[in-house]
Amino acid sequence: MTGLIRLIYWAFLAYLVYAAVKFFRSLNRASKSRPSAKPRQITGVMVKDEECDTYLPRENALRETRDGKEYFFCSQECRTKFLEKR
Ligand SMILES: [Zn+2]
Repeated sequence: MTGLIRLIYWAFLAYLVYAAVKFFRSLNRASKSRPSAKPRQITGVMVKDEECDTYLPRENALRETRDGKEYFFCSQECRTKFLEKR
Protein backbone atom coordinates (compact mmCIF):
# COMPACT_ATOMS: atom_id res chain seq x y z
CA MET A 1 0.00 0.00 0.00
CA THR A 2 2.79 2.44 0.88
CA GLY A 3 4.45 1.60 -2.43
CA LEU A 4 1.31 2.59 -4.32
CA ILE A 5 1.03 5.91 -2.49
CA ARG A 6 4.69 6.62 -3.28
CA LEU A 7 4.03 5.80 -6.93
CA ILE A 8 1.07 8.20 -7.03
CA TYR A 9 3.20 10.84 -5.30
CA TRP A 10 5.95 10.56 -7.91
CA ALA A 11 3.44 10.51 -10.75
CA PHE A 12 1.93 13.70 -9.36
CA LEU A 13 5.34 15.37 -9.11
CA ALA A 14 6.16 14.34 -12.67
CA TYR A 15 2.86 15.80 -13.81
CA LEU A 16 3.62 19.10 -12.03
CA VAL A 17 6.99 19.35 -13.78
CA TYR A 18 5.34 18.53 -17.10
CA ALA A 19 2.66 21.19 -16.56
CA ALA A 20 5.27 23.80 -15.60
CA VAL A 21 7.37 23.07 -18.70
CA LYS A 22 4.28 23.27 -20.89
CA PHE A 23 3.28 26.57 -19.30
CA PHE A 24 6.69 28.19 -19.82
CA ARG A 25 6.83 26.95 -23.40
CA SER A 26 3.48 28.57 -24.14
CA LEU A 27 4.77 31.81 -22.55
CA ASN A 28 7.81 31.73 -24.82
CA ARG A 29 5.69 31.15 -27.88
CA ALA A 30 3.34 34.01 -26.96
CA SER A 31 6.21 36.49 -26.60
CA LYS A 32 7.67 35.46 -29.96
CA SER A 33 4.49 36.04 -31.94
CA ARG A 34 4.18 39.75 -31.28
CA PRO A 35 1.42 41.74 -33.03
CA SER A 36 4.16 43.62 -34.91
CA ALA A 37 4.81 40.41 -36.84
CA LYS A 38 1.47 40.58 -38.60
CA PRO A 39 1.41 42.66 -41.77
CA ARG A 40 -0.13 46.09 -41.46
CA GLN A 41 -2.72 46.99 -44.00
CA ILE A 42 -2.21 50.41 -45.50
CA THR A 43 -5.63 51.85 -46.11
CA GLY A 44 -4.62 55.46 -46.74
CA VAL A 45 -7.40 56.64 -44.45
CA MET A 46 -6.51 59.67 -42.38
CA VAL A 47 -8.02 60.13 -38.94
CA LYS A 48 -8.03 63.10 -36.60
CA ASP A 49 -6.42 63.11 -33.19
CA GLU A 50 -9.16 64.54 -30.96
CA GLU A 51 -6.60 65.85 -28.49
CA CYS A 52 -4.08 67.79 -30.58
CA ASP A 53 -6.05 68.11 -33.88
CA THR A 54 -3.40 66.27 -35.87
CA TYR A 55 -4.30 64.13 -38.85
CA LEU A 56 -2.52 60.81 -39.14
CA PRO A 57 -2.89 57.50 -40.99
CA ARG A 58 -5.53 55.33 -39.36
CA GLU A 59 -3.18 52.34 -39.12
CA ASN A 60 -0.69 54.41 -37.10
CA ALA A 61 -3.27 55.83 -34.72
CA LEU A 62 -4.15 54.59 -31.28
CA ARG A 63 -7.82 53.71 -31.13
CA GLU A 64 -10.19 54.23 -28.23
CA THR A 65 -13.91 53.53 -28.17
CA ARG A 66 -16.07 55.72 -25.95
CA ASP A 67 -19.89 55.52 -25.87
CA GLY A 68 -19.88 53.60 -29.15
CA LYS A 69 -17.78 56.26 -30.93
CA GLU A 70 -14.21 55.70 -32.09
CA TYR A 71 -11.51 58.21 -31.24
CA PHE A 72 -7.98 58.24 -32.62
CA PHE A 73 -4.77 59.53 -31.13
CA CYS A 74 -1.26 60.19 -32.42
CA SER A 75 0.36 59.04 -29.17
CA GLN A 76 -0.25 57.37 -25.85
CA GLU A 77 0.15 60.79 -24.26
CA CYS A 78 -2.75 62.29 -26.21
CA ARG A 79 -4.89 59.26 -25.48
CA THR A 80 -4.24 59.55 -21.74
CA LYS A 81 -5.00 63.30 -21.77
CA PHE A 82 -8.23 62.70 -23.62
CA LEU A 83 -9.33 59.91 -21.30
CA GLU A 84 -8.60 62.01 -18.21
CA LYS A 85 -11.03 64.67 -19.41
CA ARG A 86 -13.89 62.21 -19.83
ZN1 LIG B 1 -1.91 63.94 -30.54
